Amino acid sequence: MQKNKVIIIVIDALRPDSITKGSMPTLWTLAERGVRFSNHYTCSPSKTRVASATIATGCYPSKHGLVNNQLYCNGAFINVSNYQELMQLDSSPAGPLLSIPTLTERLDQAGFRVALSTASSSGTSFIQNPSRRGFSVNNGSPSFVFPEARKDAILARFGSAPKVQFPDVERNKYAARILTEHIIAELQPDLAMIWFSDPDKTQHPYGPGAPETLQALGVVDQCIADIVETLQEQDLLDRTDLLILSDHGCISADPNSRFSTSMAKEIFPEDLASKFVLVGGNSIYIKPGEEHAAPEIIYALQQDQDIGAIFSSFPNCGTLPLALIGQEHERSPDILFYPHWTTELSEYGVPGIAKGTPGHGHGGTSRYEMNATLVAYGPSFKDSTTINTPSGNIDIAPTVLHLFGQPIDPILDGRVLTEAMKDGASPGEIVPKELSFTSRAEYPDFTYEATARIARIDNTYYLRQANGTSTKKEI
Ligand SMILES: [Zn+2]
Repeated sequence: MQKNKVIIIVIDALRPDSITKGSMPTLWTLAERGVRFSNHYTCSPSKTRVASATIATGCYPSKHGLVNNQLYCNGAFINVSNYQELMQLDSSPAGPLLSIPTLTERLDQAGFRVALSTASSSGTSFIQNPSRRGFSVNNGSPSFVFPEARKDAILARFGSAPKVQFPDVERNKYAARILTEHIIAELQPDLAMIWFSDPDKTQHPYGPGAPETLQALGVVDQCIADIVETLQEQDLLDRTDLLILSDHGCISADPNSRFSTSMAKEIFPEDLASKFVLVGGNSIYIKPGEEHAAPEIIYALQQDQDIGAIFSSFPNCGTLPLALIGQEHERSPDILFYPHWTTELSEYGVPGIAKGTPGHGHGGTSRYEMNATLVAYGPSFKDSTTINTPSGNIDIAPTVLHLFGQPIDPILDGRVLTEAMKDGASPGEIVPKELSFTSRAEYPDFTYEATARIARIDNTYYLRQANGTSTKKEI
């Protein structure tokens, strides 16, 4: 029997509460007619490249090894947004880039055809398809076309990659044109994927709910409408399953934030800062021989009221274990810390404010960043169903493998989202185990306490949120 086709549509940093009838009418309609997941989660840190690797592999960072948006391997910094640096890492002694095969590799191996058109950074895109199977075009900077032999023909037909804008209109339209006019209409692969750069690009400077961000949502929604229309024209809509998701959510910054570019630089005295390497703004790698400084470093973080949850490999310091967020890879840091956050409203009335951060965005452990979008629409999925069972980007690869009738490698951490499928479990049948972990440190002048809330289904766990609070003692 011929299998359905699958299209994965990633909308960077789309908060589920941004999808309204007015802001994104096409996506809103697909969610109404198909399956809407109301408790969908990203991984931690809630950053694009970490999420990309989690989507691609179906594993936590502990297994795939893409532990942050910047990597620190063998004493060297690696810019994960640039595919050329990732190619170098892949073939270096610190490689491979990912320790687990990707969905595109597994499908290509099984004889399925894959094609990608992405407006994300070239690194984010490359992570989806590091062994360059099938066909992929990215319009980041630097951009790429694989196979390279097809580059000239693509550029001659579609033009060269447009420049970044706010909203990122032209780059997203360019990616959608290649998907609709070439990939869907001509190549007709089994798995196609597109990655929209907005609302992320626009939300970073303007914030969730800002007029510019709403404009970005409208552009992406129109691109989705074009994809649906092309599927209709090609008679493919009734045999294509759409998975529409975001890599992570987004939170507004406190307008009075005291941090400029890096949170950590302002927290540590110089002599202490010389004992570790800071990577990606929130990952601490303690220098060899300086491990004795760990309690002092953690103390400096805990006393800062703008710091929230702290995870580390050091017991008895009042931090949460790195195992809770799947950060036990040899590339993982010794300490990961996140901004303190609240449920306050932003100037645009959007809930969620991050205190310890220089700008609007993501990467933290607030519910607004951890909670991501997932909508499933197509012949394999139920009609007009809302699923409250927790799901995550970790489940995308196993779910797509299942849709193609492929066996699920037991190494995968994610699960098949059968509750979304016509022949699958009913909503409410799968009940998660709700877990809460608390860490606490008592000092003469303050108390620090952090809590992480995790939902668990079999061997898959989802960090719903984590936060930490430093409370001064009345003396
Ligand atoms: Zn992102």
